[in-house]
This record gives sequence, structure tokens and C-alpha cells, in this order.
Amino acid sequence: MSLTHDAALSPSAGRRFRAYTTKHLDELTARAGLGEAERLAVRAVATVLPFRVNSYVIDELIDWDAAPDDPIYRLVFPQADMLPESDVSRMADLLRRDASRQEVNTAANEIRGRLNPHPAGQMELNVPTADGKDPLEGMQHKYHETVLFFPKQGQTCHAYCTYCFRWAQFVGEPDLKFASGEIDHLVEYLHNHPEVTSVLFTGGDPMIMGDSVLRRYIEPLLGVETLESIRIGTKALGYWPQRFTTDPDADDTLRLFEEVVASGKNLAFMAHFSHPNEMAPALVQQAVTRIRNTGAVIRTQAPLIRTINDDSATWESMWRTHVRHGMVPYYMFVERDTGPQDYFAVPLAEAYEIFRGAFANVSGLARTVRGPSMSATPGKVCIDGVTEVAGEKVFVCHFIQARDPELVGKPFFARYDEKAVWLSDLEPALGATRFPHERDPREDASALVGAAHP
Ligand SMILES: *Cc1c(COP(=O)(O)O)cnc(C)c1O
Repeated sequence: MSLTHDAALSPSAGRRFRAYTTKHLDELTARAGLGEAERLAVRAVATVLPFRVNSYVIDELIDWDAAPDDPIYRLVFPQADMLPESDVSRMADLLRRDASRQEVNTAANEIRGRLNPHPAGQMELNVPTADGKDPLEGMQHKYHETVLFFPKQGQTCHAYCTYCFRWAQFVGEPDLKFASGEIDHLVEYLHNHPEVTSVLFTGGDPMIMGDSVLRRYIEPLLGVETLESIRIGTKALGYWPQRFTTDPDADDTLRLFEEVVASGKNLAFMAHFSHPNEMAPALVQQAVTRIRNTGAVIRTQAPLIRTINDDSATWESMWRTHVRHGMVPYYMFVERDTGPQDYFAVPLAEAYEIFRGAFANVSGLARTVRGPSMSATPGKVCIDGVTEVAGEKVFVCHFIQARDPELVGKPFFARYDEKAVWLSDLEPALGATRFPHERDPREDASALVGAAHP
């Protein structure tokens, strides 16, 4: 296959899905204007971190005249400096001398192991069942009212984001994967746990599944009375809107969404949008309309990523566009502590400024968004602001969501630190020795409070 030939075809709307992988990387980075040494370095990074893109992203989303600085290019293409220089040159050496696949994989696995492949204890979050049975594979019941479900056939995406916190699932390491084919277990679990009102399908991208497979997972949930909402976490609107317009099973999928709504549940379509340019093609706007016409509600979310969307104007434009198209802004996330975090991370102090700078300029209809929010082990921590209390500069924070419901919605303070990028970098403020989420329930609460905060 030749890219030159491919680019000469008409726009990809209506064409069948076609993926580009590391095999095509050299040709694509040449198109972006990279020199030989840099192309090799990019290929070296791609031996460690996953790379996958498709004809829609290549033909419709990336502005090749602006590449390699184009934000969508940066969203999907590995960058030469995403990993430590020593790792990149080691992998580049192996590629240059055509080392065996095994040798390349061994070295790549070693580097992956140093990139915190499973943030927030993802592998340990299987549900411990009340009756002492084995935990259920491929689901997480981290928060009281919500269960996450990772369908086995949904463990890939239409394209990969360079900053993905689930990157470890995509690099072909069986023991780094986390998924379930067992919908019956989930239904049984929901019957035994009426407190669970929301099931969130995630992955990978559940919309990578064709209608018949997706249906096998969703239909059994429609009879669970206590369930109020089914959420689908997906980037398909950004990476392959054809899934809802011209794909052979697009109409059937929209009918499935209608069935969910008709069953009296909210179908919450949790759309991952990273940049306003993703909303530009007519095809995605058409897909949004079709999904909304089923009665599903589209909520939008994304992480804040250095060099891709790290300024207020980008977020303001994105939220405005989403509201214009009837979507509801939901979360701005902080980049997680995994993979090339050093490369993409925006410090919390700056993240808060970017959030506020956008939030202050949009109407109340877009102020449904919360953030900047960190999905950490104890829960989702929001940085509400920076202020001074009793002469000490602090971050004001609260848990939007927490494993311990006692913590939700209560403000707490952390010492201001302009370099901190994650919860683990923060220290308690105002004389407290621990954060509320570090409390041992047997402990006297005064250790947590601090002299200035009686
Ligand atoms: C964000 C998240 C949820 C959903 O939380 P909401 O605040 O209800 O959106 C559920 N489980 C996990 C593990 C999450 O990170």
C-alpha cells in the first residue's frame, strides 16, 4: 500500500475503516517533513508505546501543512523526545542494526516496566465479592454507585492517543491486559448490588465493537431495574464518526441506543474530545446529531495535555462548540501518572489557570464542566483554586468522587507548589500532617486539620 496513492483518493467519508500502524510510520513522518534521524527516533519510541491511526484522522483531521506541530498530528504520532534519550537511542540502535523481534521486545518491555503501566492500581481493582467468591474479571467497582466494565472485544481504539493512560493494554503484553467477556456475571452482580445505578463501558473504546457484539453486552442490562444509566466512554466521534453515519452497522447501533432510552435508562455517551479541530468535519457534526436524535445524552471530556491543548482559548473554543452542538461539557482531567507523563504533564497550578481562563468566558451552559480533576487511587481530586489562608499559600481541593463517600464534596488544602503535577506531589497544608484520604479511621481527626483550620 502506498500512502501517496491513498491520499489521492476522495475523502475517507463512507470508506471502510483502514488502520495505519508502525509499518507506515516512516512514510507518514516523512510526509510531516521529519528528517531521517528524527524518523528513526520516532520509530524507536513506537517500539515501546503503541501507535495506530486511520484514514479518517490522516485525511480529514490532521493539517499536514502544520505538521509536525499540528495538534491532531501530536495527538496520534509519537514524538522523538517522549521517552528518555538513553531509551530512545538504545531502541534506535536495535532498529538500525535490524535486531530480532525478540531482542526489540525484550528491551521495549524493560522500558515499559519503568513507565508505571498500571496507574491507580487498576489491576487490583477487581470487585471483591461480598460472599468471598473470586473477584470478577474485567470490572471495577471503585465508587459506590458506579461500576466500570471492560468488554473483551473492546480493548482497542480506532486510533491511539499518544498520551493514553491505558497504553499498556495496547502493546500486546497479555499480562498487562484487563478485560471481561462475562456479561452474565455483571448482571448477577448488579442484582446483588442495587446501590450500583450506573455502568460505564470502557476499554479501549467500546465503540470499536460492531453492533451485534455491543448488543450482547448492553441488552442484558436493560432488565436491571436498579440501573439508571449506561455510559459508553469513547473517542469514536473524534477518530471514526463513520461508526454512526456510513458504517454498515451504524443504523443498528443507533437503534440499540434508542432501545436503551426506551427502557427508561439514560444512555450517556461520554465523548473524548481533545481539541476543537476534531469537531470541524461535517461528518462528525452529522454523527453528533444522529446520536442525539436517539435520546442519548453526549457529555464531553478530555485530559489537559502539554503541546496539544494547554491553553485556555483551546478549551473555551472546544466547550463552546460542544454546547452549540447540544453536547454537555463534563470533565477536564489532569494527565495521569503513567507512560510519557513527564512529556505531557501540565503542573496543577497552571492547569487551574487554564481551566479558569476558559471557564470564566463561557456561558453557564458550558459550566457543567468540572476540573482540573485527577483520577487518583483514593478518588477524583479537583483543584478548585489557589488562595492564601493564615499567611500560607494553598491549593483548595475537593473530592468530586471517592472510594470513601465520606470524602466527597468536602474541601481540603494542600501546600501550594508550582511544580506539582499529581496528587502524590502534594503535601498537606496549614500544619496538617496527613490528607483526609490518608486518615486511618482509628486516628484522632485533629492530626488532619491543622492549627489554622479548627
Ligand atoms: C471517573 C470514574 C467514574 C465515574 O465517576 P463520575 O464522577 O460518576 O463521572 C467511575 N469509576 C472510575 C474508576 C472513574 O475514574
